[in-house]
Amino acid sequence: MSDIITEKQTLEERYLRQIFIRDQMAEFVKDPFVMKGADGVYYTDIDGKRYLDAIAGIFVASVGHNNRRVIDAIKAQLDTMAFAPVYHGTNALAIQLANKLAEIAPGDLSAVKFCCGGSEANETAFKMARQYHKLSGHPNKFKVISRYQSWHGGTFGALSASGVRSRRVDSEPLAAGFVHVFPPYCYRCPFGKEYPSCNITCAGLIEDTIIMEDPETVAAVIVEPIGHTGGVIDPPPEYLPQLREFCDRYNVLLIFDEIITGMGRTGELFAADTFGVLPDLICLGKGLSGGYTPLSAVLCRRPIADIFWGDKTTNPGFVSGHTYEGNPIACAAGLATIAEIIENDLCANVRKVGSHLREGLEGLRKHGIIGDIRGKGMFIGVEFVRDLVTKEKFPDDIPIATLIGKRALDKGLLLRFDPHWLSIGPPLILTESQADDIVSIFDESISEVLQEIKN
Ligand code: PMP
Repeated sequence: MSDIITEKQTLEERYLRQIFIRDQMAEFVKDPFVMKGADGVYYTDIDGKRYLDAIAGIFVASVGHNNRRVIDAIKAQLDTMAFAPVYHGTNALAIQLANKLAEIAPGDLSAVKFCCGGSEANETAFKMARQYHKLSGHPNKFKVISRYQSWHGGTFGALSASGVRSRRVDSEPLAAGFVHVFPPYCYRCPFGKEYPSCNITCAGLIEDTIIMEDPETVAAVIVEPIGHTGGVIDPPPEYLPQLREFCDRYNVLLIFDEIITGMGRTGELFAADTFGVLPDLICLGKGLSGGYTPLSAVLCRRPIADIFWGDKTTNPGFVSGHTYEGNPIACAAGLATIAEIIENDLCANVRKVGSHLREGLEGLRKHGIIGDIRGKGMFIGVEFVRDLVTKEKFPDDIPIATLIGKRALDKGLLLRFDPHWLSIGPPLILTESQADDIVSIFDESISEVLQEIKN
């Protein structure tokens, strides 16, 4: 057997040909971006260049990189037990983490099914909704209503619910039973209306869709409380309460995909708290373990959990499981991450530093190309336009946000960018002075790109 290749060799095309990442590899090899270390809110790549991580990896590193408490908890658990038999039972850490989540979750969201990633959590929520209806006498309720431009994950069921066309087409045909509706994208209302005279058409149409599909066939509605893909789509205040009302009216479960918004990102532990709406199921991932291990979870309300509790001869319990669910190392990371968030009151930091960051970003409207700034807490989207009045986008050959995002990357700032918008979601430990650094590099990047476009 040959030795493992050296770190420097990982930049060579012949070795990069052996891996797929989410990109065109022929393009990636021209300027490979390979990380080596991370500490606090900074990454270092393998050439030693430092980056301010304004996207927490990808909304994951909630308590920052190299957090000693989480690392020590993982190390201690490694010394005790790395894996527990899921087929026969569970382990103490999983029960402890489930109870901690039940304690901090809103309302009676007090039973937890663990998974490993966001897609798996969302798929598990769909299965839980379907089986719940079967067990409670509504066996024909199977459809899931979700939104265009949403992202619920890359596995088949989660992708079927997702509404990002470019990520779906190559895998089509996708699973049956998923119905899509338009998102609450106020800046470019899909119905050509204006808030609030629109009367929240985007929510009302969800009720119409439930009726048109036949309520006896609809199991669940899934939404990200604030949608990411599409440009951080933050609903008007009435939207989620109305969805709650419709779901109650037609016995449809409301699922919040809080893979990004959960665990403090919006300034409360859950976006359900931020919006004051209690869903039936919450899916958590990303920030739950702070990125230290793969870990996700589905939280469900007590009456739903109770349906799965009963006599084994007539009720099999929840028929769903994965080898790594409730993994003790992952649960140790989850418990330590939650302790860090709560004991350091990171939600308060998100509110304080998040609004400082937001103010700084508002100042960048001076460039005349920022059409909208959206989001809550430390989950912020910036949409660019060529014309502030008509909201005309930049033409296809000027993918403005990509150009700005790449320029920022050259300058050592990590953002998430699409052609017309970019998003910011730093570790929740960000300080005001680090927020100022984000704004100032962003500012310079916009100036330089605008100058280049002019020339
Ligand atoms: N839901 C949302 C809102 C997400 O942002 C993501 C990942 N970006 C997922 C689900 C899927 O999570 P994972 O990639 O961990 O499967």
